[in-house]
Amino acid sequence: MRKKTIYLLLFFLSSSCGILLPATHTLKTNQNKAEQYSKTITQKELKKHLKILSSDEFEGRETTTIGQKKAAAYINKHFIENNIKSPYGDTGYLQSFPVDVLDFSKVNFSYNGSKLTFIKDYYTFGNPINSSFNNIEAVDVGYGINSFQRNDFLGLNVKEKAVILKEGIPNGIIDKKEGNWRKKVKTAKKEGAIAVIFKKENYSNTDLNIKKYLEYPIMKMHGNQKSKPLPPVFVVDEKIIKELNQDTNTISFKTSVSQTKTSENVLGFIPGVTDEIIVISAHYDHIGYDRGEICNGADDDGSGTSSLMSISKAFQKALDEGNKPQRGILFLAVSGEEKGLFGSQFYTENPVFPLSKTIADLNIDMVGRQDTIQQDNNYIYLIGSDRISKELHSINEQINKKHVGFKLDYTYNALDDPNNFYQRSDHYNFARNNIPVIFYFGGLHEDYHQPTDDFEKIDFLKLERVSRFVFLTAWELAYRKKTLSK
Ligand SMILES: [Zn+2]
Repeated sequence: MRKKTIYLLLFFLSSSCGILLPATHTLKTNQNKAEQYSKTITQKELKKHLKILSSDEFEGRETTTIGQKKAAAYINKHFIENNIKSPYGDTGYLQSFPVDVLDFSKVNFSYNGSKLTFIKDYYTFGNPINSSFNNIEAVDVGYGINSFQRNDFLGLNVKEKAVILKEGIPNGIIDKKEGNWRKKVKTAKKEGAIAVIFKKENYSNTDLNIKKYLEYPIMKMHGNQKSKPLPPVFVVDEKIIKELNQDTNTISFKTSVSQTKTSENVLGFIPGVTDEIIVISAHYDHIGYDRGEICNGADDDGSGTSSLMSISKAFQKALDEGNKPQRGILFLAVSGEEKGLFGSQFYTENPVFPLSKTIADLNIDMVGRQDTIQQDNNYIYLIGSDRISKELHSINEQINKKHVGFKLDYTYNALDDPNNFYQRSDHYNFARNNIPVIFYFGGLHEDYHQPTDDFEKIDFLKLERVSRFVFLTAWELAYRKKTLSK
């Protein structure tokens, strides 16, 4: 599960409900057979996979790292050993994609010849173009506002220079938007400035979340830059600027922070009779290290990955015993989720099978724990199931009623869910393409994105039940004659 933003704490919902629809469709496949194969998914096997995926050897499976690649190799090996085919035929199971890694700690910044220390004295962020400047003049432009009320650039020439400015707005400025940092940077750029320096009052006690976020390399989807690049922005401790100030000030900087690396999705496939497919997805990447400690991500999303692996094996067994599904089933283990749903974005932009033939995505993320809200562990949160196909919602409910017996909780399916979970895992990239989705989710707990999200805390009975639930819903979708209606 992807973190919401770096600036906001997570809010826990207490109430508010999605709409429950009556189950009107009947299940159209052999439910005895489906149940028989679902039982081949066992706690024992889930444990075996999760023990390995959440081991220290995989170092928290952070996108582009060795640990992530070891996890990819483990899933790849599982597909080979179980005779599960690759949708690519003989060319392997991996779908590689490029990722831009921005390491801001590599920036050099000097003020009047004194080299400042990253984080301690200043920070920088955004999308800086790799650039290098030596001893360019820095001009103080007050608040850096140029509006109908006030022009701080009047009589100043900042072309090919840096500007130094204060945050916020002075008294008397009506339009609060004039204080927006991005607006100020754009104004400076328009005036010809090539770098912007914000003087920060009380620097050491402010922007702590941002500084923590910048400590580690930041990843962006390669070529995914939505906005035009802005000049480099430096937020500097005002005290240091005061200390170093001279009559004329200069800065030097070098912002070669960007490097392109690769990451991988791992794809397994069960062929069907028709050219339609369904997707079962889970992200196998996690967040790597937090201040030297490994975040093993047992629940997030070792649980979903183990589940995907066991489900794939159960479907392959059914196929091997002569039960060919109507539709193909694609097992999509993605990476880059924690960095911004990269793997699923890349897949949906470069699908192996046409998206028009992809009838549903069942996504499994964090399903091995009990959250901090529920009274017991006999529940699952379902998100998105009724948004694109009411029939999908109904099928899933009937499967639960017939085989599983969870309390289905639609709290987070509310359109105004402040957590915005609907957009925070990989199903969202399918939903954006109008493909029906269900996000199976166990909710948040105190170990979410902490080094304590460990194997020992997983409820394997819960994980087994969720895995069978997803398997049985996928079975109905894959084996029924009729396609899913929207
Ligand atoms: Zn996560």
